[in-house]
Amino acid sequence: MLHDLPRPSWPAADGPVDVHTHAIAPRLPDLAADHLGRWPSVERVAEDRARIMLDGRLYREVDDRCWSAQRRLRDMDAEGVAAQVVSPIPVTLCHGEPADGAAVLARAQNRFLAELVAEAPDRLAALGAVPLQDPQRAAAELAYCMDELGFLGVEIGTRVGDVELSDPRLDVFFDEAADRGALVLVHPVDLTLDPRLATLGIGFGVGMPVETAVAAASLLSGRTRRPGVHLCLAHGGGALPAVLPRLDRGELLAGRAGAAGHRMPGERARELWVDSLTYDVDSLRLAVERFGRGHVLLGTDYPFAAREFPPGAVLDDLDEELRTAISRDNLDAVVAGQRLSTTRSATG
Ligand SMILES: [Zn+2]
Repeated sequence: MLHDLPRPSWPAADGPVDVHTHAIAPRLPDLAADHLGRWPSVERVAEDRARIMLDGRLYREVDDRCWSAQRRLRDMDAEGVAAQVVSPIPVTLCHGEPADGAAVLARAQNRFLAELVAEAPDRLAALGAVPLQDPQRAAAELAYCMDELGFLGVEIGTRVGDVELSDPRLDVFFDEAADRGALVLVHPVDLTLDPRLATLGIGFGVGMPVETAVAAASLLSGRTRRPGVHLCLAHGGGALPAVLPRLDRGELLAGRAGAAGHRMPGERARELWVDSLTYDVDSLRLAVERFGRGHVLLGTDYPFAAREFPPGAVLDDLDEELRTAISRDNLDAVVAGQRLSTTRSATG
């Protein structure tokens, strides 16, 4: 019974916490049998290796770092990481597929993540999956993740099919996330990128950071607000830090500045969080400048080839106070806020 699993006891160990790591079960439900759509599956090829398949083709080879808590803990010990927050591999989010199948997949992943975290509840925490194409169900799954499984929040993609994150149809989900102080990791999905980028071989280098910037810009310049939600953009906010001044200028040119209640995107960006996964200290410093010293969290993309190694290497040249804030204190503050909102709702 999942309810009998040890609850995450956020985290007992002192030291850096990596908020951007991924996990996948060594087996996913066979959705193709009952649901139309394009669904990932996992083929186990050895005790410690598996292949993520999509449409019968290899999407990515993975190993037991994706599903073995013991393997992760060994790496964390060797690399000086006190705790990890694990989230689904973005290809499994499936926001553009039929909602029924996505709901089944999300629940299966959340149960797996709960079992993974239960093996080391003082050193692992999770962000769950939600079927965001059905916002009501996504809100309910978010509540399940946080109330029943003790997750810190969820991971979502940068778009839901053709629907932007700023679309009012998603309000019910984001309102739930705001009420709970949920941490919502916004992560680009390579499958949703313009095929041109794959042809050029720059999907990773340009496509994903631009995709993140577009999603965030839709939130910052649109009429829809997402206050109260701890939205954390992956990869240092992608291209957003570089383009924020231009986004502000665009608001002026479009005549939107000066309207009642209007705030410039650059100012509203300080309501977002980002991870530190920039591979470059100057880019990280720009992210700190744009989002604030309290709004950058250590993230590495463990266990994939893109991961920063050693974890937090980009923080080395920062002053100690900022390094400690990014590697640990800023996330502790988010979690403390969640406990406050839980207390508030419990006391009415
Ligand atoms: Zn990632």
